Amino acid sequence: MARYTEAICRLCRRNGEKLFLKGARCFTPKCAIDKRPKPPGQTTGRRRRRFSDRALQLREKQKARYTYGILERQFRKTFEIAEKQAGITGDNLLVLLERRLDNVVYRLGFADSRSQARQLVLHGHIMLSGKKVNIPSRLVKEGDTIGWREGSKKTEYYKILAESIEAKDILSWLSLDKQNMVGQVITLPTPDQVDAKFDGKAVIEYYSR
Ligand code: SF4
Repeated sequence: MARYTEAICRLCRRNGEKLFLKGARCFTPKCAIDKRPKPPGQTTGRRRRRFSDRALQLREKQKARYTYGILERQFRKTFEIAEKQAGITGDNLLVLLERRLDNVVYRLGFADSRSQARQLVLHGHIMLSGKKVNIPSRLVKEGDTIGWREGSKKTEYYKILAESIEAKDILSWLSLDKQNMVGQVITLPTPDQVDAKFDGKAVIEYYSR
């Protein structure tokens, strides 16, 4: 499966803001944005150039893509599905992105970042409503449960996670049985239940040209 291989922190620096792509590291002084807030390649004190509307739209689209760790082709496909749904395309897009299995694994606190969550899914550690699913882009639906494969519960990663899960906060559209490490989709998310890191309107404008 194709994936993004560029240095992760470079994506935040290019966008000039924290996208929180590296889990716990993003909250430490090691964060590249905190250490070097200028975009890659800009080392002098020169004034930053002004961006055209098109460039700003592209930036928002990339921000959404980087945040959820999706390649252009799949992101575009998701956008097209959002466009066909009733309602506001930007909101639909956000909900579709949130419903991805790798995102839900991350939101449940099973992983520190979406890329780590994607690895957990790809390596077959995650059960979706009782079935092993290794497709990170699979969309969850209302009532789905998200748990761990029996064999995966013997791993060191699982044991450490089970000890630290108590302290994690869960979004209101999800629930988590911390004792058994099983999450559930109570209801599909609404845009106001999700901290959107991108401007959906700019993404629509980007693709409408
Ligand atoms: Fe972005 Fe996190 Fe890297 Fe900071 S540590 S630059 S927030 S990915």
